[in-house]
Amino acid sequence: MPNMAPKKTAIPEQDPNVRSRNFEEVTLGYTDEMALEEAKRCLQCKLKPCMNGCPVNVRIPEFIRCIVDGDIEKAYQVITSTNSLPAVCGRVCPQESQCEQKCVRGIKNEPVGIGRLERYVADWYMKNRERHPHHTEPNGHKVAVVGAGPAGLTCAVDLSALGYSVTIFEALHTAGGVLMYGIPQFRLPKEIVQKEIETLEASGVEKKTDMVIGKVLSVDELFAMGFEAVFVGSGAGLPSFMNIPGEGLVGVYSANEFLTRINLMKAYREGYDTPIIHPQRVAVVGGGNVAMDAARSAKRLGAQEVHIVYRRAEEQMPARREEIHHAKEEGIRFQLLTNPVAIHGDKDGRVTEIECVKMELGEPDKSGRRRPIEIEGSNFRIPVDCVIMAIGNSPNPLIHKTTDGLEVNRHGCIVVDEGTLESTRRGVFAGGDAVTGAATVILAMGEGKHAARSIDEYIKSKQKSSNH
Ligand code: FAD
Ligand code: SF4
Ligand code: SF4
Repeated sequence: MPNMAPKKTAIPEQDPNVRSRNFEEVTLGYTDEMALEEAKRCLQCKLKPCMNGCPVNVRIPEFIRCIVDGDIEKAYQVITSTNSLPAVCGRVCPQESQCEQKCVRGIKNEPVGIGRLERYVADWYMKNRERHPHHTEPNGHKVAVVGAGPAGLTCAVDLSALGYSVTIFEALHTAGGVLMYGIPQFRLPKEIVQKEIETLEASGVEKKTDMVIGKVLSVDELFAMGFEAVFVGSGAGLPSFMNIPGEGLVGVYSANEFLTRINLMKAYREGYDTPIIHPQRVAVVGGGNVAMDAARSAKRLGAQEVHIVYRRAEEQMPARREEIHHAKEEGIRFQLLTNPVAIHGDKDGRVTEIECVKMELGEPDKSGRRRPIEIEGSNFRIPVDCVIMAIGNSPNPLIHKTTDGLEVNRHGCIVVDEGTLESTRRGVFAGGDAVTGAATVILAMGEGKHAARSIDEYIKSKQKSSNH
């Protein structure tokens, strides 16, 4: 008999007052009993609508059935047959707008906690088993992958499983992309990311770090080195600013820089002398996941007062509901319908205040969201010693500028054929944030998979025509 409880089985969490001062993971994961209870909420629907909501088509009812049967090892095999980073996705996928949005249990009540169950299975496996990567006979063809984020890693592993000799070129000293330098430790522990990446790397993919393509080597040089195709998964790491007065003051960061200093350069750990301001009063500008991560990180770094400054209303915030909820629980203050117009500083050039105006919502704009309109004369100031800009990222133009024939759109995103993900330059494929602009981990992984299939077809068809 299925468990017809209307709500998801609750997941244990750290107390908000305690967790807002440490970088340990916020949610603690299901116990065996909790996972079984939640798995029993699944109705094992014949049409499997939940699977259609997952960009990599995880066989959801099948893996949940395995949990009910007590075969967690098999559940893991089912998940990893299509998703190579389950511990990551179980934690950070926006399930509410993907798999769980399509779950029939969600029509009247809460959907099945698919993400929580995926995380449970992945964590169980990591604790109890060794993952054995499969090695395929080499097929004699070489492919280069630029960027070791979710898109590049997935593409590399899938090509390697098809027999290709794959080399990943990564600009930073470590693989993982945003999983390592962007998403904070308290949402996605770096040890978990490292473990998942190590397993992928064990499949025989070669990794070259500190290799900025476009500077150290160009895409043309990769072809000259004998690579027959190149996949570009270089992400969208270029932060946007508002172009308001005062953005050059000391104490103004892009969210990328602030989070990189905390995550990758471990600014929160004792014994690390990472250069970073330990602010007391912070304004974070933006309403997405990146803004929530920056605000919650500032709080954990010791800030007494952290404000989110967002120009629309809460309903329009692009951040996940769970992140907004957690931020509120941790005491982050929300300044909604508020837009910054200037940042003020002292005689030493340090931030002292952010000046804002109040907004009201007008008619819907092109995005379908109601356009925020400034209320004249509503200026006010918030005293702060740090301002973090989290208003969006776009792809870095380096690769586009150094590769002949590679077209980008007006947002700087690489233009690709939707069917194959091949760019306007023959043999160069692209996917993830470099193509879509800032999106999600699982969409980037889906594109990495898609590109691997296309590259395989491309190389095979080239070989066929050269044999004729
Ligand atoms: P990235 O992860 O950006 O990886 C690109 C890699 O390419 C990087 O390692 C970079 O160093 C490397 N690179 C760049 N240029 C070069 C070059 N010239 N040569 C060599 N290497 C290069 N998504 C979710 O699904 N859930 C979340 O909760 C979530 N939270 C987020 C929080 C933050 C703070 C941020 C910034 C993003 C978040 N995202 C979230 C978005 C998600 O992380 C990205 O959509 C995803 O990582 C994109 O994957 P990617 O492989 O395309 O790019
Ligand atoms: Fe849901 Fe993400 Fe898992 Fe797919 S990968 S089933 S979208 S949590
Ligand atoms: Fe289970 Fe929901 Fe999928 Fe149905 S839609 S099989 S209840 S997870």
